Amino acid sequence: MRCSALLRGSVLAAVIAIAAMDASCQIQDGPGRNNSSEIMPQEAYSSLLNTSLDMSYLASMISLSELDQATSMPENATVYRAKAQSYLADLRNKKEIDPEFGMLLSIASNGSGWSTVVAANLRLWNRDYSKRIKLPADFAARESETASLAEAAWEKAREKDDYTIFQPHLKAMVELNREKARYWGYQEHPYDALLDDFMPGMTVAKCDKLFDLIKHRIIELIEEIKNSNQTASKNIYGSGRYAEERQEELVKNITTALGYDYGSGLMEKTRRHPETFSIGAGDVRSTIRYDESNPEEAIMTAIHEGGHGIAEQKIPQAYYGMPIGTEPGMNMAEAESRLFENNLGRSRAFWQFWLPQLKQEFSPEMDNVSLEDMHRYINRLNLGPIRVDADEISYILHIIIRYEIERDLFDGNITVDDLPEIWNQKYRDYLGVNVTDDRDGILQDIHWADGYFGYFPAYALGSINAAQLEAAMRRDHPDLDQRFASGDFTIPAAWMEEHIYKYGSIYDTPELMKRATGNETEVYDFLNYLKGKYEAIYSL
Ligand SMILES: [Zn+2]
Repeated sequence: MRCSALLRGSVLAAVIAIAAMDASCQIQDGPGRNNSSEIMPQEAYSSLLNTSLDMSYLASMISLSELDQATSMPENATVYRAKAQSYLADLRNKKEIDPEFGMLLSIASNGSGWSTVVAANLRLWNRDYSKRIKLPADFAARESETASLAEAAWEKAREKDDYTIFQPHLKAMVELNREKARYWGYQEHPYDALLDDFMPGMTVAKCDKLFDLIKHRIIELIEEIKNSNQTASKNIYGSGRYAEERQEELVKNITTALGYDYGSGLMEKTRRHPETFSIGAGDVRSTIRYDESNPEEAIMTAIHEGGHGIAEQKIPQAYYGMPIGTEPGMNMAEAESRLFENNLGRSRAFWQFWLPQLKQEFSPEMDNVSLEDMHRYINRLNLGPIRVDADEISYILHIIIRYEIERDLFDGNITVDDLPEIWNQKYRDYLGVNVTDDRDGILQDIHWADGYFGYFPAYALGSINAAQLEAAMRRDHPDLDQRFASGDFTIPAAWMEEHIYKYGSIYDTPELMKRATGNETEVYDFLNYLKGKYEAIYSL
């Protein structure tokens, strides 16, 4: 699942880093303004801000249209909508590389004595603008055409369960991203340039270090769980029917208790994978799916997407329309959702309060479910070939497999032709899973068809960051579990607001982690968290 929270983030950041023609025209047409040397840095900054705001209105409408597509757009609207969206995207693309914007940016950047907010906005505008103008003029069009062909081929390849249909298109996407990395530049590894695009400051060296420290421990832990005598697989929902309206009510109660503001957001039903769309100030929408035979999907997805939504809602409204009014990177955005979903939403104390509510809604179906049953079931191991069906712990291995393949593809150690074999071998080695077909193997994710290289690691890095943030939060609030058990869930959003949300992207993720927890991302809290949880559940 790709999360639109950050997709939106990067789109908005990109959109914001754009020159609006009217802003630059005002400057050129103003009295006595014949050349750029007469514009003062403060004026240039104000123009950039106006432009930024104009572009965030445009981004809002694009987002709203995408949300509508996912939730209620009628089928017959597809063709016209695609044209309308492509028009908006085109408008945005042209403005993204407007030389006027570059001119204003360089004037403002020569100013001095800026506040932290202004300095951060200038840094982010510079970062995005310089990346865009490094790409040749025809690059965006080539990229979108190659991706749309790749996506169609990917769908066909999945339908026919035949990787060779997708293979040449994947090769083209890899080549295009290699080219992009060359234009953007990198210090050590071409893949660094792609990682940094989704997670500023992230590199292969950092990922290697973190993932090498957790990979073997996770493989061992899964082995220990498999060999334990405890079983956690009993389906606590049995064969009952769990009415959608009741699930909806629970979802609303739980997310409200966690801090999701329904005055500034909504959980809507989707036909596709769940996502969060940040539409604009005071408007965040999440989409979820309901399954009447098992309320777990809706509840846990709502907590995950609610985590994205709360973060977006708590970014100061004054920052909307500025580049700092976005998430600082996917590795923080996914930490924000995973902290709520996994670290808190799968904890015993959390269900100590919510299980009785669930049982009350769903009686007699759940009458005999104990807190232990619930805690085990919601943390059950689910080893299989499909990433989106995986449990919290084996999910990390699914991500590490994708990371290693992307890294090796971009340094030329492996080729696109070798991928199914490498993929299947890694699934055997890391997860003990036999992948029997391409559809449930190498072809399961749309990310590569869309050109999202460097994106997958954010999910695992998000989990690592979440555990580190949770540990710091618990140091400040040792009574967190007692509060949860008594129905008080206000601490996490308040603590995160104080340490993370309120900064928007004034700081990047490494700096935010250091400020909030004392260190940049490290694996120790994550390993302790997994050990503590699974040892308790499985009596290891
Ligand atoms: Zn997410």
